[in-house]
Amino acid sequence: MNKLNDNQLLKQYSYINGSWHSSETEFAVVNPATGELLINVSNAGVIETELAVKSAKSALKAWSSKSAAERAVLLRNWFNLMMEHQDDLARILTLEQGKPLAEAKGEIAYGASFIEWFAEEGKRVYGDTIPAPSGDKRIVIIKQPVGVVASITPWNFPNAMIARKAAAALAAGCTFVGRPATQTPLSALAMAELAERAGIPGGVFNIVVGEDAKGMGKVLTEHPDVAKFTFTGSTAVGKQLIAQCATSVKKVSMELGGNAPFIVFDDADIDAAVQGALVSKYRNAGQTCVCTNRIFVQKDIAQAFTDKFVAAVAQFKIGNGVEEGVVIGPMIAKNAVDDVDKLVLDSVKAGAKVLLGGVRSPAGDNFYQPTVLTQVTNDMPVAANEIFGPITPIITFETEQEVIDMANATEYGLASYFYARDIGRIWRVAEGLEYGMVGINEGLISNAAAPFGGVKQSGSGREGSKYGLDDYLEIKYLCMGGLS
Ligand code: ADP
Repeated sequence: MNKLNDNQLLKQYSYINGSWHSSETEFAVVNPATGELLINVSNAGVIETELAVKSAKSALKAWSSKSAAERAVLLRNWFNLMMEHQDDLARILTLEQGKPLAEAKGEIAYGASFIEWFAEEGKRVYGDTIPAPSGDKRIVIIKQPVGVVASITPWNFPNAMIARKAAAALAAGCTFVGRPATQTPLSALAMAELAERAGIPGGVFNIVVGEDAKGMGKVLTEHPDVAKFTFTGSTAVGKQLIAQCATSVKKVSMELGGNAPFIVFDDADIDAAVQGALVSKYRNAGQTCVCTNRIFVQKDIAQAFTDKFVAAVAQFKIGNGVEEGVVIGPMIAKNAVDDVDKLVLDSVKAGAKVLLGGVRSPAGDNFYQPTVLTQVTNDMPVAANEIFGPITPIITFETEQEVIDMANATEYGLASYFYARDIGRIWRVAEGLEYGMVGINEGLISNAAAPFGGVKQSGSGREGSKYGLDDYLEIKYLCMGGLS
C-alpha cells in the first residue's frame, strides 16, 4: 500500500452522509495473493446501514431537484478524478482482489466509463405525449427518479460493479447506498473519497462496509425508504434478496450467475476464436459471470482448435497480480480453489480428460493452475455448474441444432459467444441462443454503451446503455382534463 501516490485514497471507515464513520469493531482486508493483512477496516453493521439509508433519503430532494446538466458536471468531475487516480485505484484493487494490475487498470477505466456515459445520458431522460381519446384531455408522460437506491455488490469487480449501478442511479436523480463485498471494501471507499472531491453532496453516495452481510442486506432490501434494490452476485443469494424485496414491493434489478457457452463452428477463423476464448475465459482467473464456462467445438476442427488453445494457455504466467507479465492471479480465497478443484476431480471421475493443469498451483494457497479438459459432456459438473475459476471444459458437437440445444440447456442466460462466418448461420444461432448477450466473433462484449444483463435465472434489468437508466426511473402519466 505504501506505493500509492495519494495515500488519502486508502480509507478505513464507511462513508455516510458525506463523512467517515468508525464503528466499534474492525475486520481485516487481506491480500489474496499473499495472505498478508492489508489494513483493518471499521466494521459497520445494521445501525450504520440504517443511517446511510436515512442520509440518502434526506439528500434525495435536493439531488433530484438539480437539473440533469448540473448532475452531469459533478459526475464528470468524478469520472475525471477516477481516471486521474487510475494507477492508485488499480493498485488498491489488485491488492485486495488479486487480478493482474493491467486488468485492474482496465477495470478502473471501464467503471469510470459508466460514470462518463450516464453523466451524458442523464440529459436525455425524455418524456412523451400521447394523443388522448377525447378532445378535452391531454396525456403527458414524465419520468422521475425512483428514489433511494440500495445495492449489494460482489468482490470480482470491486470498482466497476458499483460504478455501473451508482452512475445510472445518480444520473437519474436517485441517491445511493452501496454495500460492497467484505473481501473488497477498499476500492469502494476510494470511490467515495473521489465522489466527495468531485463535489457530490453528502448523502447522495454512501458506502457501508461490514461483515454482517445478512443484517445489512435485510436493511437494504426491506427498509421502507429504499425504493429500488440492485444486486450483483450469485443466483442463490439473488433469489433470497428478491424474496426479501417482495415484502415492500421494491423495484429490483438482478445481475446473477452465468454459464456462458462459447461455440466454435467449422467455418470460424480458428485463430480469432482461440484469442476470443482466451480473453473471455481467463480474465480475472475465470472469476466473472460472463466468463466462458463451456467451449463447444465442431467435430472437424476440434483438434486444431484444442491444440492452439492449449498451447496458448500453457504460456500464461501465474502469480501475484502486481508482478510484471502475470496473466493469472490468485482466486479470491482458498475455498474458491477447493470448489474448482472438486469440479475438476468430479468431472475427471465422470470421464473428462485433463489436457493441461487440473491441479492446485505452487504459486500459493489461493492459486489454481489454468486447466483445459476434453472429452467433456454437457452434464458433467464442470459444464453443468458455473465454474468461476480458470478451468475450460471442451465439448465437441456435430450439428448446429445440437449445439444450440446444449448451449441453452441451463437455467442461466447471461453471456454467450460464437465464432462463425456463414451469415445465415450467424443469424440462426444469434436468435436461437437464450441469452441476454451474444458475442459474435468477439470475446469481450461489455462496454458502457451496451445493455449488460441476463435472461432466465441470470437476472433482470440492464446496466449501461440508453436502457440502463430505465431501472432507476418511474414513468408518471399526467392526464390533463377539462380543456374544452
Ligand atoms: P459471490 O460468490 O460473488 O461471493 P454472493 O452472492 O455470495 O456471490 O455474494 C455477493 C454479495 O452478496 C457479497 O457482497 C456478499 O457479501 C453479499 N451477500 C451474500 N449473502 C448475502 C445475504 N444473505 N444477504 C445479503 N447479502 C449477501
